[in-house]
Amino acid sequence: MECRDPDSLKNTLRTLIRDRTPYVLIGGGSNLLIADEGVDVVVVRYFADEPLVEVDGAEVEVSGATILDHLVRAAVDRGLDGVTTCSGIPGTVGGAIVGNAGAFGKQIGDVLESVEVMNAAGDVYRVAGPDLAFAYRRSRLQQSGEVVVSARLRLHPADRAGLLEERESLLALRREKHPDWRREPCIGSIFRNIEPTSAAGRRQAAGWFLEEAGAKELRVGGAYVYPKHANIIIKGEGGTARDVFELSRLMAQAVRDRFELDLVREVRFLGRFPQAPDKPADRFF
Ligand SMILES: Cc1cc2nc3c(=O)[nH]c(=O)nc-3n(C[C@H](O)[C@H](O)[C@H](O)COP(=O)(O)OP(=O)(O)OC[C@H]3O[C@@H](n4cnc5c(N)ncnc54)[C@H](O)[C@@H]3O)c2cc1C
Repeated sequence: MECRDPDSLKNTLRTLIRDRTPYVLIGGGSNLLIADEGVDVVVVRYFADEPLVEVDGAEVEVSGATILDHLVRAAVDRGLDGVTTCSGIPGTVGGAIVGNAGAFGKQIGDVLESVEVMNAAGDVYRVAGPDLAFAYRRSRLQQSGEVVVSARLRLHPADRAGLLEERESLLALRREKHPDWRREPCIGSIFRNIEPTSAAGRRQAAGWFLEEAGAKELRVGGAYVYPKHANIIIKGEGGTARDVFELSRLMAQAVRDRFELDLVREVRFLGRFPQAPDKPADRFF
């Protein structure tokens, strides 16, 4: 089912809730590995090609279905900074808020004033940004099951020409380092970066550990590791979700063997995948 704006989302979800129909909500699907057999619940896609953005001074109200990069473009065009570093990150505003997406040390949670959410009972209400427990690629929304209907961001005025220039250079950097997901199917970084173990420590790129462990040499069926980035898997010609899953397992194993380090997955799985019963759900085997 497709919902493009807040009203259609609210109506659709209320109907599903009333009829007790199990559903899962997705945005752009840019961070999801969907099982080859599909999913045995209704999938609601909250996604819109047309941005729904209202700007009042430095305050921006945006629907969760809006493509994140469209929001960035709208903000930069008006000389507003705060989300510029999100330039080129695939997916929707809703998906970005749930996973606190970001790049270059900044994330969307930093500028989020509040969100309008709907819970599993169909109630709609606002939650203030600081109450969403944002952390590195985390928010409380990942556990609460609340759906992001829309969001209010507080941005700040900045030099428009400078922002446009910054955006262009970030997009160029992405083109150079990341695959073009339209031609080379991928779901971004498979594993989370390593969080610091001391206050002085810095997060370390999972890609570095993967590269050192020889992950770039690994391949399963049609799935292979992107040659320019060891934390990204490309589902190539004839590749399946199962190939991607198995390859990610080998990658985690390679890092464990070399560094005695357990990588934690960043991407989400939808549908049935093998699980090792003795490990927490978000750990690889
Ligand atoms: C090439 C590439 C580069 C990437 N680079 C980055 C990067 O630099 N930084 C970064 O942070 N991420 C990056 N990603 C990952 C991805 O783009 C982000 O995680 C993105 O925010 C996911 O948004 P989405 O709409 O596609 O979410 P989806 O993949 O559709 O969903 C992700 C999760 O969010 C939930 N969800 C989605 N929308 C909503 C909503 N409205 N309300 C409640 N829950 C919702 C889904 O149920 C699911 O659990 C990259 C991905 C790719 C393919």
